[in-house]
Amino acid sequence: MVSIVYLNGEFLPLAEAKVSVLDRGFLFGDGVYEVIPVYQGKAFRVREHIQRLERSLAATEISLVQKEQDWVVLFEEVIARNSQKTQDLSLYIQVTRGVSAKRDHAFPAEVKPTLFMMATPVVYGADLGSVKSIRAITLPDNRWTRCYIKSICLLPNVLLKQAASQQGVEDAILIREGYLTESSSANVFVVKNGVVYTPPKTDYILGGITRDLIVELGEQGAFDCREQEISEQELLQADEVWVTSSTREIIPVTELNGKAVGNGKIGPLWYNVAKRYQAYKAELVTR
Ligand code: PMP
Repeated sequence: MVSIVYLNGEFLPLAEAKVSVLDRGFLFGDGVYEVIPVYQGKAFRVREHIQRLERSLAATEISLVQKEQDWVVLFEEVIARNSQKTQDLSLYIQVTRGVSAKRDHAFPAEVKPTLFMMATPVVYGADLGSVKSIRAITLPDNRWTRCYIKSICLLPNVLLKQAASQQGVEDAILIREGYLTESSSANVFVVKNGVVYTPPKTDYILGGITRDLIVELGEQGAFDCREQEISEQELLQADEVWVTSSTREIIPVTELNGKAVGNGKIGPLWYNVAKRYQAYKAELVTR
């Protein structure tokens, strides 16, 4: 099936979607993005994703203002053009500051944002038995101090993930001044003595939609979840470690810096929380 993408008001086959080399996204990484999971045709937590996109746009002063309903209509159109009902997707939305006549760091006086969207088939982890754990290493968090912006300027994250990959593991868990922040492309949860912990939302992490839902499920009493600073030492002594993101959902980390996390097996809290997460999803799909 040919992927149909959206670019600046048009729906086009992927190969026909073209952006100018003077687009500031290309020249400066001057743009923001979102990734929304789509389960059987339904966009997940769409309001939360739109609100985060609006925060990223406001923080970067990219002026693309649309009503929530207008975003939803666009999303539905991209989804409809790309999915068979049973297929799950990942909806990618990117907004750059747009094309300017001249390469100059400061914002151009008049510029129209570039809006691009595509939908890619994804197999999510609804079958808990087939979820594979990953290995990770810790690395210093050498990114900037505005990680709450979902910026397309991902070079630091790319280099961190590549460093992990070169050490033969799947992710890098980041430490800033002795404390856990997040991973190169996900939020991090730690379990100790039956309690689930995740770092509070600060400028140093991206407030993940997956993360927020787990915190919310905890608040509803399903398990004890606390937003609390986690030292590197506490991370390394955890019973369980997970990474969370829209495309990967909740993935257990069973090896960290070459040592087993807990007993080296996927832990009971992961099963408990992942089961509740999948139940929440299933409820959304049948609604
Ligand atoms: N932190 C970073 C750095 C990310 O890139 C991502 C998403 N890929 C997340 C956290 C998780 O966010 P979400 O759950 O909204 O996908």
